[in-house]
Amino acid sequence: MARYTGPVCRLCRREGEKLFLKADRCYTDKCAVERRGVPPGEHGRGRRRRNQSEYGQQLREKQKVRRMYGVLEKQFQRYYDEAARRKGVTGELLLQLLERRLDNAVYRLGFAGSRPEARQMVNHGHFLVNGRKTDIASFMVSEGDVIEIKTGSRSNPRFQELQEMAAGQHVPGWLTVDWERRQGTVVRLPEREEVDIPIQEHLIVEMYSR
Ligand code: SF4
Repeated sequence: MARYTGPVCRLCRREGEKLFLKADRCYTDKCAVERRGVPPGEHGRGRRRRNQSEYGQQLREKQKVRRMYGVLEKQFQRYYDEAARRKGVTGELLLQLLERRLDNAVYRLGFAGSRPEARQMVNHGHFLVNGRKTDIASFMVSEGDVIEIKTGSRSNPRFQELQEMAAGQHVPGWLTVDWERRQGTVVRLPEREEVDIPIQEHLIVEMYSR
């Protein structure tokens, strides 16, 4: 599947918010949003964020969420369609579907430092879901699923590093992690409040309902 391969900090600068796409660097003063909080490009400094049209705001919100989860346009539309088909609040269901992606769960468990890193690790086959090798980042996890670092990958120094970083880190309530066994469990489906970046999902719903 095609994906964005350009500089990811540019995406955060475009949205004017930290999207945490670069693992450790995002938590240091090297973060581009903190150093240069202006949109990228020649006219970035003069680009106005305020007085955006209603559509402009809706579009920016959709792009922010899409970029945060590393999902392309068509795939995002499919998530939206699925959320709209289900019973409940569409915006919340959309975020729940995105949170349930395997790469996101791996990131949330602390088995990767960012969603892009999680996606790469999943694609490289470092994880098992319920004992089966699963290398599809968009795989949708469900209640009761056990996500485990493959035995052959456990000695990877990156996992040692991540384990040290994970001490004291918050894991959302829909997941539990056991670093000794190198596994995490989906105890229930994610809830809206557990998405920790401010998102106005109603703007996305409004955009698709036009
Ligand atoms: Fe975004 Fe992280 Fe780059 Fe900061 S360091 S701009 S949060 S990807």
